[in-house]
Amino acid sequence: MKIKSIKASNFELPSSTISLLASADQERRSKDQGESAGGRDREAWFARDEVANPMSRYPRFKSHRNLWLPGWSQTVCVVVAEDGTYGVGMTSYGTPVNAVINEHFAPLLVGEDCMAIERLWDMMFRLSSPYSASGLASYAISAVDLALWDLKGKLLGVPVYSLLGGPSREKIYCYATGNDTDWYLELGFQATKLACPYGPADGLDALEKNEEAVATARDLIGPHRELMLDCWMAFDVEFAVRQAERLREYNLKWMEDCLIPEDFQGFTELRRRLPWQSLAMGEHWYSPLPFLSSVSNRTADYLQPDIQWVGGLTATVKICHMAEAAGISVIPHGGMNDPYGQHTSFAMPGIPWGEFFVASAPGISLEEGFRRVPGMSLPVDGHLTPNDGPGFGIELSMGDIESYSS
Ligand SMILES: [Mg+2]
Repeated sequence: MKIKSIKASNFELPSSTISLLASADQERRSKDQGESAGGRDREAWFARDEVANPMSRYPRFKSHRNLWLPGWSQTVCVVVAEDGTYGVGMTSYGTPVNAVINEHFAPLLVGEDCMAIERLWDMMFRLSSPYSASGLASYAISAVDLALWDLKGKLLGVPVYSLLGGPSREKIYCYATGNDTDWYLELGFQATKLACPYGPADGLDALEKNEEAVATARDLIGPHRELMLDCWMAFDVEFAVRQAERLREYNLKWMEDCLIPEDFQGFTELRRRLPWQSLAMGEHWYSPLPFLSSVSNRTADYLQPDIQWVGGLTATVKICHMAEAAGISVIPHGGMNDPYGQHTSFAMPGIPWGEFFVASAPGISLEEGFRRVPGMSLPVDGHLTPNDGPGFGIELSMGDIESYSS
């Protein structure tokens, strides 16, 4: 079966995928119910809390990542086969990513065998090498690759997790990311990850104030649940080592993304100076190659490729196989927030957990607060079972896609 067309467009679901409007919803609901939500009566951490980030050293951008992240919308990529069957892939950073897909990849891939996904991935990886297959081109490769997997599942009438050789488990164990820890416990999560509030830009107090945040979370969840800390590319080696030493008594399962993603020597040094602290990284690595470097140097205990960014499912499977051979776990970035991560995590034995990023306010159910891709599952009591396809089970007609695209 040949590829008839490939087209990428800017795309927004009726509300953004992750709801930042939940606090307004909550205000309305509290009024409707005529009661205070008690401890839940606050806006979501994502709207409320400062989080250390790579731009923290510049005061006018320090308070929130949304002050400096680009305003590009999501992208939807639709690959149509000769018989009219279509697959749907999604990624971030619409405008420049659409240009790579529509102006470079699409004209060269139309007419190729739509089932030959390894070949098509390799072609895209090599086609983009003159301007780097990393970064924005990797988002473009991801969107086309995910659409091809969706299409293949639909043509064969099976879920993608079956195409991969899964399922490997009955349900996926999920952890919640965000700073409303009490609410995640109420939702049934048994593991949570904090977004670290302070970094080197906050001076000496930062170490102590971060310790307070971690101590409060550990008090809340107790000794029998897992706690992790996300440092979102904000630290340097020296700060990360001092912070980790200060936090040792709180038994963090891992510290995540301590350094700027390309600082490979820094990650090696961090591993050397923190042999006892498990480290997680990789959400801003592109293509399997940085993961090969990390596996070879054993800088990570948990690798976190983002399936919609790293080069799609094909790249993620390559990473899973490398990691599994080395005895290193893969936990895809935001893997439970989209159908792609859900199917992959259900299928691959080397993916022990799923991450669910919670941006909605306490008291708002996940069904209400999270604007999901139609058809996808949500965690229940800290576990998730994906839909059973076909493909990734995305319930978007061509008419829906057209009406949500621009
Ligand atoms: Mg992360």
